[in-house]
Amino acid sequence: MQTTLTTSAAEAAAILNAGGVVAFPTETVYGLGASICHTEAIKQIFRAKGRPGDNPLIVHIATVEQLADVVTEITPDAARLIERFFPGPLTLVLRKHPRVPEMVTAGLQTVGIRCPSHAVAREFLRLAKCAVAAPSANLSGLPSATNWEAVYHDLNGKIDAVLRGTPSAIGLESTIVDCSCPTPLLLRAGAITLEQLQEVVPNITVATKAEQASAPKSPGLKYPHYAPKATIILYHAGEIPATTASSASIGFAEAPTGVTLHKQCATLDEYGHELFSFFRRCDAEGIATIFCELPSNEGLGRAIRDRLMRAAGHD
Ligand code: AMP
Ligand code: MG
Repeated sequence: MQTTLTTSAAEAAAILNAGGVVAFPTETVYGLGASICHTEAIKQIFRAKGRPGDNPLIVHIATVEQLADVVTEITPDAARLIERFFPGPLTLVLRKHPRVPEMVTAGLQTVGIRCPSHAVAREFLRLAKCAVAAPSANLSGLPSATNWEAVYHDLNGKIDAVLRGTPSAIGLESTIVDCSCPTPLLLRAGAITLEQLQEVVPNITVATKAEQASAPKSPGLKYPHYAPKATIILYHAGEIPATTASSASIGFAEAPTGVTLHKQCATLDEYGHELFSFFRRCDAEGIATIFCELPSNEGLGRAIRDRLMRAAGHD
Protein backbone atom coordinates (compact mmCIF):
# COMPACT_ATOMS: atom_id res chain seq x y z
CA MET A 1 0.00 0.00 0.00
CA GLN A 2 1.23 3.48 -0.92
CA THR A 3 1.07 5.87 2.06
CA THR A 4 0.22 9.45 1.05
CA LEU A 5 1.84 12.25 3.04
CA THR A 6 -0.28 15.38 3.09
CA THR A 7 -0.67 18.62 5.01
CA SER A 8 -4.22 19.09 3.74
CA ALA A 9 -7.00 18.17 6.20
CA ALA A 10 -9.43 18.15 3.25
CA GLU A 11 -7.34 15.62 1.31
CA ALA A 12 -6.91 13.46 4.44
CA ALA A 13 -10.66 13.58 5.19
CA ALA A 14 -11.50 12.62 1.57
CA ILE A 15 -9.26 9.54 1.91
CA LEU A 16 -10.95 8.69 5.24
CA ASN A 17 -14.46 9.18 3.82
CA ALA A 18 -13.57 6.83 0.96
CA GLY A 19 -12.78 4.07 3.49
CA GLY A 20 -9.07 4.77 4.03
CA VAL A 21 -7.01 4.61 7.23
CA VAL A 22 -5.45 8.00 8.00
CA ALA A 23 -3.05 9.11 10.76
CA PHE A 24 -3.67 12.63 12.08
CA PRO A 25 -2.13 14.98 14.64
CA THR A 26 -3.80 15.70 17.99
CA GLU A 27 -2.69 17.54 21.13
CA THR A 28 -2.05 14.23 22.97
CA VAL A 29 -0.34 11.91 20.43
CA TYR A 30 -0.94 11.15 16.73
CA GLY A 31 -4.09 9.08 16.09
CA LEU A 32 -4.69 6.39 13.45
CA GLY A 33 -8.21 7.03 12.23
CA ALA A 34 -10.92 5.09 10.40
CA SER A 35 -14.52 6.17 9.86
CA ILE A 36 -16.90 4.21 12.10
CA CYS A 37 -19.04 3.84 8.95
CA HIS A 38 -16.33 1.74 7.22
CA THR A 39 -15.81 -1.60 8.95
CA GLU A 40 -13.05 -2.71 6.55
CA ALA A 41 -11.06 0.39 7.47
CA ILE A 42 -11.53 -0.37 11.18
CA LYS A 43 -10.18 -3.89 10.58
CA GLN A 44 -7.20 -2.35 8.79
CA ILE A 45 -6.34 -0.29 11.92
CA PHE A 46 -5.95 -3.52 13.91
CA ARG A 47 -3.93 -5.15 11.10
CA ALA A 48 -1.64 -2.17 10.49
CA LYS A 49 -0.81 -1.74 14.18
CA GLY A 50 -0.71 -5.46 15.02
CA ARG A 51 -3.28 -4.56 17.69
CA PRO A 52 -5.16 -7.36 19.51
CA GLY A 53 -8.88 -7.34 18.60
CA ASP A 54 -9.94 -7.12 22.25
CA ASN A 55 -8.28 -3.72 22.73
CA PRO A 56 -11.00 -1.09 22.09
CA LEU A 57 -10.53 2.09 20.06
CA ILE A 58 -11.43 5.61 21.17
CA VAL A 59 -14.03 7.38 19.00
CA HIS A 60 -13.17 10.97 18.07
CA ILE A 61 -15.75 13.67 17.42
CA ALA A 62 -15.49 17.23 16.09
CA THR A 63 -18.11 18.81 18.35
CA VAL A 64 -19.89 18.11 21.62
CA GLU A 65 -23.19 17.97 19.66
CA GLN A 66 -21.91 14.84 17.87
CA LEU A 67 -22.00 12.95 21.20
CA ALA A 68 -25.66 12.11 20.55
CA ASP A 69 -24.58 10.12 17.48
CA VAL A 70 -22.28 7.79 19.41
CA VAL A 71 -23.60 7.38 22.99
CA THR A 72 -27.09 6.66 24.37
CA GLU A 73 -26.79 8.50 27.67
CA ILE A 74 -24.75 11.35 29.15
CA THR A 75 -24.64 10.90 32.92
CA PRO A 76 -24.68 14.02 35.17
CA ASP A 77 -20.98 13.52 36.05
CA ALA A 78 -20.10 13.10 32.38
CA ALA A 79 -22.03 16.29 31.58
CA ARG A 80 -19.97 18.20 34.15
CA LEU A 81 -16.68 16.80 32.79
CA ILE A 82 -17.70 17.61 29.21
CA GLU A 83 -18.67 21.16 30.17
CA ARG A 84 -15.28 21.72 31.82
CA PHE A 85 -12.82 19.71 29.68
CA PHE A 86 -14.21 19.21 26.15
CA PRO A 87 -12.62 19.82 23.73
CA GLY A 88 -9.35 18.58 25.20
CA PRO A 89 -7.18 15.63 26.28
CA LEU A 90 -9.96 13.74 28.11
CA THR A 91 -11.71 10.51 27.00
CA LEU A 92 -15.02 9.56 28.62
CA VAL A 93 -16.35 6.02 28.60
CA LEU A 94 -20.16 5.99 28.18
CA ARG A 95 -22.83 3.58 26.96
CA LYS A 96 -22.44 3.17 23.22
CA HIS A 97 -25.02 3.94 20.56
CA PRO A 98 -25.92 0.88 18.42
CA ARG A 99 -24.44 2.81 15.48
CA VAL A 100 -20.92 2.29 16.89
CA PRO A 101 -19.70 -1.11 15.60
CA GLU A 102 -18.68 -3.64 18.26
CA MET A 103 -15.41 -4.07 16.42
CA VAL A 104 -14.55 -0.54 17.60
CA THR A 105 -15.39 -1.26 21.24
CA ALA A 106 -13.97 -4.82 21.24
CA GLY A 107 -17.43 -6.18 21.99
CA LEU A 108 -18.09 -3.81 24.94
CA GLN A 109 -21.41 -1.99 25.25
CA THR A 110 -19.48 1.14 26.26
CA VAL A 111 -17.37 3.43 24.10
CA GLY A 112 -14.50 5.83 24.83
CA ILE A 113 -15.22 9.28 23.35
CA ARG A 114 -12.84 12.19 22.84
CA CYS A 115 -13.20 15.61 21.27
CA PRO A 116 -9.65 16.88 20.56
CA SER A 117 -8.79 20.58 20.87
CA HIS A 118 -6.06 20.51 18.19
CA ALA A 119 -7.06 22.82 15.30
CA VAL A 120 -5.97 20.49 12.47
CA ALA A 121 -7.58 17.47 14.17
CA ARG A 122 -10.83 19.42 14.53
CA GLU A 123 -10.78 20.46 10.88
CA PHE A 124 -10.15 16.83 9.83
CA LEU A 125 -12.92 15.52 12.12
CA ARG A 126 -15.34 18.23 10.96
CA LEU A 127 -14.84 17.09 7.35
CA ALA A 128 -15.26 13.40 8.26
CA LYS A 129 -18.77 12.15 7.42
CA CYS A 130 -18.93 9.88 10.50
CA ALA A 131 -17.14 9.84 13.85
CA VAL A 132 -13.54 8.58 13.69
CA ALA A 133 -12.27 5.55 15.63
CA ALA A 134 -8.59 6.08 16.40
CA PRO A 135 -6.00 4.46 18.63
CA SER A 136 -2.50 5.90 18.84
CA ALA A 137 -0.66 5.80 15.48
CA ASN A 138 2.17 3.42 16.40
CA LEU A 139 2.89 -0.28 16.12
CA SER A 140 1.21 -2.06 19.02
CA GLY A 141 3.39 -2.11 22.13
CA LEU A 142 5.80 0.64 21.02
CA PRO A 143 5.80 4.18 22.44
CA SER A 144 3.01 6.32 20.96
CA ALA A 145 3.95 8.51 18.00
CA THR A 146 4.23 12.18 18.98
CA ASN A 147 5.38 13.47 15.57
CA TRP A 148 4.58 12.52 11.98
CA GLU A 149 8.01 11.05 11.37
CA ALA A 150 7.41 8.45 14.11
CA VAL A 151 4.05 7.56 12.51
CA TYR A 152 5.75 7.17 9.13
CA HIS A 153 8.53 5.06 10.63
CA ASP A 154 6.03 2.59 12.13
CA LEU A 155 3.25 2.55 9.55
CA ASN A 156 4.58 3.52 6.11
CA GLY A 157 3.11 1.09 3.56
CA LYS A 158 0.42 -0.13 6.00
CA ILE A 159 -1.95 2.86 6.04
CA ASP A 160 -3.47 5.10 3.36
CA ALA A 161 -2.26 8.50 4.52
CA VAL A 162 -0.54 10.61 7.16
CA LEU A 163 -1.87 14.11 7.78
CA ARG A 164 1.36 15.88 8.68
CA GLY A 165 1.23 18.37 11.51
CA THR A 166 3.52 19.71 14.20
CA PRO A 167 4.70 17.54 17.13
CA SER A 168 1.95 16.80 19.68
CA ALA A 169 1.96 19.52 22.36
CA ILE A 170 1.27 17.14 25.27
CA GLY A 171 3.02 13.96 24.10
CA LEU A 172 1.07 11.57 26.38
CA GLU A 173 -2.23 9.81 25.62
CA SER A 174 -5.55 11.20 26.89
CA THR A 175 -6.83 10.85 30.44
CA ILE A 176 -9.59 8.19 30.44
CA VAL A 177 -12.54 8.36 32.88
CA ASP A 178 -15.19 5.64 32.93
CA CYS A 179 -18.56 7.34 33.47
CA SER A 180 -20.58 4.20 32.73
CA CYS A 181 -20.30 3.01 36.36
CA PRO A 182 -22.01 4.61 39.42
CA THR A 183 -18.78 6.25 40.64
CA PRO A 184 -16.54 7.69 37.90
CA LEU A 185 -13.30 5.75 37.63
CA LEU A 186 -9.96 7.09 36.41
CA LEU A 187 -8.77 4.35 34.04
CA ARG A 188 -5.72 6.08 32.59
CA ALA A 189 -3.88 9.17 33.86
CA GLY A 190 -3.12 11.95 31.38
CA ALA A 191 -2.80 15.70 30.97
CA ILE A 192 -6.16 16.35 32.61
CA THR A 193 -4.94 15.52 36.10
CA LEU A 194 -6.70 13.68 38.93
CA GLU A 195 -6.66 16.93 40.92
CA GLN A 196 -8.44 18.79 38.07
CA LEU A 197 -11.01 15.99 37.72
CA GLN A 198 -11.67 16.02 41.47
CA GLU A 199 -12.59 19.72 41.31
CA VAL A 200 -15.51 18.75 39.06
CA VAL A 201 -16.29 15.20 40.29
CA PRO A 202 -15.03 14.92 43.90
CA ASN A 203 -15.94 11.23 44.31
CA ILE A 204 -13.90 10.00 41.33
CA THR A 205 -11.83 6.92 42.22
CA VAL A 206 -8.56 5.71 40.77
CA ALA A 207 -8.76 2.29 39.14
CA THR A 208 -6.58 -0.27 40.85
CA LYS A 209 -4.13 -2.25 38.71
CA ALA A 210 -6.55 -5.19 38.92
CA GLU A 211 -9.46 -3.00 37.78
CA GLN A 212 -7.37 -1.62 34.93
CA ALA A 213 -6.44 -5.10 33.79
CA SER A 214 -9.83 -6.79 34.12
CA ALA A 215 -12.37 -6.79 31.33
CA PRO A 216 -14.76 -5.12 30.81
CA LYS A 217 -13.34 -2.02 32.48
CA SER A 218 -10.39 -1.26 30.24
CA PRO A 219 -9.23 -4.35 28.42
CA GLY A 220 -6.53 -2.52 26.51
CA LEU A 221 -4.60 -1.62 29.63
CA LYS A 222 -3.57 -5.22 30.21
CA TYR A 223 -1.29 -5.15 27.17
CA PRO A 224 2.34 -4.03 27.29
CA HIS A 225 2.57 -0.43 26.22
CA TYR A 226 4.97 2.37 25.51
CA ALA A 227 8.03 0.15 25.64
CA PRO A 228 11.15 0.99 23.64
CA LYS A 229 13.57 -1.79 22.66
CA ALA A 230 16.02 -0.51 25.27
CA THR A 231 15.71 -1.72 28.87
CA ILE A 232 14.12 0.88 31.16
CA ILE A 233 15.58 1.39 34.63
CA LEU A 234 13.68 3.74 36.95
CA TYR A 235 15.32 5.86 39.64
CA HIS A 236 14.15 8.38 42.22
CA ALA A 237 15.23 12.01 42.45
CA GLY A 238 18.54 12.30 44.26
CA GLU A 239 19.65 8.74 43.58
CA ILE A 240 22.34 8.84 40.97
CA PRO A 241 22.11 5.65 38.95
CA ALA A 242 25.19 3.56 38.21
CA THR A 243 25.16 3.75 34.43
CA THR A 244 26.33 1.12 32.01
CA ALA A 245 27.87 1.32 28.55
CA SER A 246 25.47 2.44 25.81
CA SER A 247 23.01 4.06 28.18
CA ALA A 248 20.86 7.19 28.13
CA SER A 249 18.88 9.08 30.73
CA ILE A 250 15.90 11.40 31.06
CA GLY A 251 14.58 13.35 34.04
CA PHE A 252 15.07 16.55 36.00
CA ALA A 253 18.57 15.72 37.21
CA GLU A 254 21.81 16.55 35.41
CA ALA A 255 23.31 13.82 33.26
CA PRO A 256 24.62 10.89 35.33
CA THR A 257 28.26 10.20 34.43
CA GLY A 258 28.77 7.82 31.56
CA VAL A 259 25.52 8.22 29.62
CA THR A 260 25.70 8.66 25.85
CA LEU A 261 22.48 10.69 25.61
CA HIS A 262 20.71 12.78 28.23
CA LYS A 263 17.50 14.81 28.26
CA GLN A 264 17.20 17.19 31.17
CA CYS A 265 13.64 18.45 31.61
CA ALA A 266 12.81 21.67 33.43
CA THR A 267 9.12 20.90 34.02
CA LEU A 268 6.67 17.99 34.12
CA ASP A 269 5.11 19.34 30.91
CA GLU A 270 8.47 19.13 29.18
CA TYR A 271 9.06 15.62 30.54
CA GLY A 272 5.69 14.45 29.17
CA HIS A 273 6.27 16.16 25.85
CA GLU A 274 9.73 14.62 25.39
CA LEU A 275 9.33 11.12 26.85
CA PHE A 276 8.15 9.06 23.86
CA SER A 277 10.25 10.87 21.27
CA PHE A 278 13.28 10.34 23.53
CA PHE A 279 12.50 6.59 23.77
CA ARG A 280 12.31 6.43 19.98
CA ARG A 281 15.53 8.39 19.53
CA CYS A 282 17.31 6.01 21.92
CA ASP A 283 16.10 3.01 19.92
CA ALA A 284 17.21 4.62 16.65
CA GLU A 285 20.69 5.16 18.15
CA GLY A 286 20.94 1.59 19.48
CA ILE A 287 20.98 2.57 23.17
CA ALA A 288 20.76 -0.55 25.39
CA THR A 289 19.52 0.98 28.66
CA ILE A 290 17.52 4.14 29.48
CA PHE A 291 17.60 5.47 33.05
CA CYS A 292 14.39 7.38 33.79
CA GLU A 293 13.80 9.59 36.82
CA LEU A 294 10.40 8.88 38.44
CA PRO A 295 8.49 12.09 39.15
CA SER A 296 6.14 12.32 42.15
CA ASN A 297 2.52 11.28 41.68
CA GLU A 298 1.16 14.83 41.67
CA GLY A 299 -0.40 16.53 38.65
CA LEU A 300 1.03 15.36 35.33
CA GLY A 301 3.56 13.31 37.34
CA ARG A 302 0.90 10.59 37.74
CA ALA A 303 0.62 10.10 33.96
CA ILE A 304 4.40 10.15 33.43
CA ARG A 305 4.92 7.62 36.25
CA ASP A 306 2.23 5.37 34.76
CA ARG A 307 3.91 5.35 31.33
CA LEU A 308 7.36 4.82 32.87
CA MET A 309 6.17 1.91 35.02
CA ARG A 310 4.54 0.25 32.01
CA ALA A 311 7.58 0.85 29.82
CA ALA A 312 9.71 -0.76 32.54
CA GLY A 313 7.31 -3.71 32.78
CA HIS A 314 6.34 -2.94 36.42
CA ASP A 315 2.61 -3.34 35.97
P1 AMP B 1 -4.92 4.06 22.59
O1 AMP B 1 -5.79 4.99 21.81
O2 AMP B 1 -3.98 3.28 21.75
O3 AMP B 1 -4.27 4.76 23.73
O4 AMP B 1 -5.91 2.97 23.23
C1 AMP B 1 -7.17 3.31 23.71
C2 AMP B 1 -7.35 2.75 25.09
O5 AMP B 1 -8.57 3.29 25.57
C3 AMP B 1 -7.60 1.25 25.12
O6 AMP B 1 -6.41 0.54 25.20
C4 AMP B 1 -8.44 1.09 26.39
O7 AMP B 1 -7.59 0.95 27.49
C5 AMP B 1 -9.19 2.40 26.47
N1 AMP B 1 -10.59 2.25 26.07
C6 AMP B 1 -11.14 2.49 24.86
N2 AMP B 1 -12.45 2.20 24.86
C7 AMP B 1 -12.76 1.79 26.09
C8 AMP B 1 -13.97 1.32 26.73
N3 AMP B 1 -15.12 1.26 26.09
N4 AMP B 1 -13.90 0.96 28.03
C9 AMP B 1 -12.74 1.04 28.68
N5 AMP B 1 -11.56 1.45 28.15
C10 AMP B 1 -11.57 1.81 26.87
MG1 MG C 1 -1.87 3.14 22.05
